[in-house]
Amino acid sequence: MAGADEQFVAGLRTMDRHDVNRLTIQAYTRAQRQMIDEERVRRRRAEAEAEAVAGEVAGAVASTTAALSNLINMMAVLRMNSGESSNSATNQTEGNLNGNNSGENQVSEPAAPVTPNAQLPAKKKKPRKKPQKPIKKSYLFPEYHHLVAEGVENIEFKSSTTDGTLYNETRLIGSLKCSSCGKGWTTGKVATAIRGYEQQNGQLGYSAEVFNQRCAECNSLGHLTLDVDTYVERVARRLLIWKGEFSPEPRTHEQFTPPHRFDLCEGCAVGRCVLGGYGRG
Ligand SMILES: [Zn+2]
Ligand SMILES: [Zn+2]
Repeated sequence: MAGADEQFVAGLRTMDRHDVNRLTIQAYTRAQRQMIDEERVRRRRAEAEAEAVAGEVAGAVASTTAALSNLINMMAVLRMNSGESSNSATNQTEGNLNGNNSGENQVSEPAAPVTPNAQLPAKKKKPRKKPQKPIKKSYLFPEYHHLVAEGVENIEFKSSTTDGTLYNETRLIGSLKCSSCGKGWTTGKVATAIRGYEQQNGQLGYSAEVFNQRCAECNSLGHLTLDVDTYVERVARRLLIWKGEFSPEPRTHEQFTPPHRFDLCEGCAVGRCVLGGYGRG
């Protein structure tokens, strides 16, 4: 019996995460269900740890990027001083209208020290490249519904940002590029509001509103490239919780990540960010 259990767990370990999440729980014995549950929780925990590390790395990337963009600005000034015409400094739009264009007193999220001892993510995630959407303060991603639906039955995507009967906030991983000055940054704190719409037809309607962020250098909105895996996993997880098909274990501790820039977050701007301390949902 114990041997069979071990074999079962070993089998689970070799499965793709999505396959584990897709298992029809009713088809297994009580003991096996428990093992499946444990495996799902184990994967989620590993993913959460990877994200915490990604947040730290994001801080380091942000400071490197800030240094680079300072260098680029300096080169533009040098070019102008040498008499060469430059359209890069005259063409700026909304970003520099506030008159603060020195760039020197703008502080990006402080970098967390990345020590050699830092825990490494189990698997390094690369945000998948997607064609850019027009710049907005928040986005919906109906194009990822089929991926969410792989792990959750009886759900319907709704193109709505109106509150329904269920509401939760989470944060996602994304990389952004400033629409004005071109500065780039990566973050594990993309504010996201997940809304649920309970319906008579037995289908759970839902939407996930993902909020843009502003550039620390010039305050313009960024082009957002979302990490699709995190999106799918977080949204599916929330829908499963709402459907009563998954109960998360309470978090025991939070790992250190750089502080959230409330002033640059479009989720915070409308009081919809899990990091804004509103305690919603
Ligand atoms: Zn910018
Ligand atoms: Zn926020």
